[in-house]
Amino acid sequence: ILRVSALSKEFRGTRALNEFYLDVAEGEIVALIGPSGCGKSTLLRCLTWLEQPDDGFIEVAGRPFGRALMPRGVVRRQSRREIDALRPKIGLVFQQLNLWPHLTALENVVRPQTVVLGRARAEATRRADELLGRLGLADRAGRYPHALSGGQKQRVAIARALAMEPALMLFDEPTSALDPELVGEVLTVLKSLAATGMTMLVVTHEIGFAVNVADRIAFMDAGAVIEEGPAREVVANPRTPRLRSFLDLVL
Ligand code: ATP
Ligand code: MG
Repeated sequence: ILRVSALSKEFRGTRALNEFYLDVAEGEIVALIGPSGCGKSTLLRCLTWLEQPDDGFIEVAGRPFGRALMPRGVVRRQSRREIDALRPKIGLVFQQLNLWPHLTALENVVRPQTVVLGRARAEATRRADELLGRLGLADRAGRYPHALSGGQKQRVAIARALAMEPALMLFDEPTSALDPELVGEVLTVLKSLAATGMTMLVVTHEIGFAVNVADRIAFMDAGAVIEEGPAREVVANPRTPRLRSFLDLVL
């Protein structure tokens, strides 16, 4: 459902992504791990076209996203409209909490549906209520973000992304800004989401979570995946010295 080929991105001399390749199948859960600065957040930002990659191709649900490879190797850049049309297919939940502070939890989930998808307000509200309920936030719907805990805020952000009915969910260290006692509630939500068959690419340093929930782990270093495989196997039998020393640090 997601195919990334030879994606590259440079920031004034720093090669954040260096011919990055990754495929994620429908219903698959892939954990992306790697040292700080290896390009994980840049990848997710490029996958949602918040950042424009310099080179390479992204395919979402069989359709080119951002750039299309045409016959005879001609590369066609998509228009802003084409990009905006596909963008709701990809849900992104950031590391830092990113709710609109002036809107209630419910309104945070309703607004993108009405604005981006053009859904009727009643329908958007019905879906928001249902999602907030599913994520254990039914009694928090009327609160503003400042009156929610970090874990609750992150769950609202997840509900907001899910309301767009994405084909694929991307998570960028969704628990790293949380106090340790709040990490569990967000991981539980991710687990239940995984059980519904949602396709997920999760950047995480929670190796335990990666091993227990992910089908596959991809280890990234210096802008590219250097080792990947079934989650348990990758952690139990790392093949490259770089992954071995990374696991020694985080386990
Ligand atoms: P972390 O685990 O700390 O979140 P990361 O793997 O997400 O790290 P990125 O944030 O993707 O790493 O950064 C990759 C590299 O690109 C780093 O060297 C970073 O300094 C650089 N970089 C990222 N964004 C920018 C930017 N907007 N301008 C310049 N350099 C950037
Ligand atoms: Mg990051």
